[in-house]
Amino acid sequence: MPVAVRAVDALKVYGEGQNEVIALNHVDLEIAQGRFTAIMGPSGCGKSTLLHCLAGLDSLTSGKVMVGETDLGGLDDDELTRLRRDRIGFVFQAYNLLPMLTAAENIRLPMTIAGREPDPDWLEAIVEVLHLADRMHHRPAELSGGQQQRVAVARALVTRPDIVFADEPAGNLDSRAGTELLAFLREAVDRFGQSLVLVTHDPNAAALSDRVLFMADGSVTGEINAPSIEAILDRARTGA
Ligand code: ADP
Repeated sequence: MPVAVRAVDALKVYGEGQNEVIALNHVDLEIAQGRFTAIMGPSGCGKSTLLHCLAGLDSLTSGKVMVGETDLGGLDDDELTRLRRDRIGFVFQAYNLLPMLTAAENIRLPMTIAGREPDPDWLEAIVEVLHLADRMHHRPAELSGGQQQRVAVARALVTRPDIVFADEPAGNLDSRAGTELLAFLREAVDRFGQSLVLVTHDPNAAALSDRVLFMADGSVTGEINAPSIEAILDRARTGA
């Protein structure tokens, strides 16, 4: 199966001497194209660091990250900025929408910055999947949390990125809005073949994925393919 992103011997160390923290401890990992991969593990085990390094938002201490055939370590700042803009989507826990722009303007923003127009059919498909058609002219303050996060997801999808990373995207939502958001993400994978990596604490969210990776102490310690909720809970009980 083609690989969307790969980490090779990825080491990330924060701080020095007594303050040194090994956030990623020589991680080797391949994320397949067109699949929904979830990452679980206790707080502080390195999930966000892994996501940020895979997305080119942070750099490794040593080792490498490849997005498709591109080695992120070989890019200068401008090239990395362009790669993040054109080939990667990121959804944060805080929606990070611009308050003075409408939903439609927020969604188009990555294209506007790049001086391009979104493909109208693609935009229409995203808006349909995310059930945003009747909210496009609202500003963020006029939208519910769930709607705002769906706008943030649409913004991440609009450039047709090679891969979308989502760090606890339902973390600020009530359970119904969270469940809805995750169902929409699942649909984006199924309908558009979108590659997606989701960090989550929620076994129900992880159970929607095609593959769950378990992390502990900066390492990937296991995985389950086509996970059931029972298998995830079992794994969590025995310690990931
Ligand atoms: P998770 O997302 O699984 O909660 P993180 O990737 O945020 O874990 O953190 C992994 C480890 O790295 C933790 O011990 C955390 O305290 C440490 N860490 C994360 N970011 C920094 C930073 N900017 N400076 C120093 N230590 C950090």
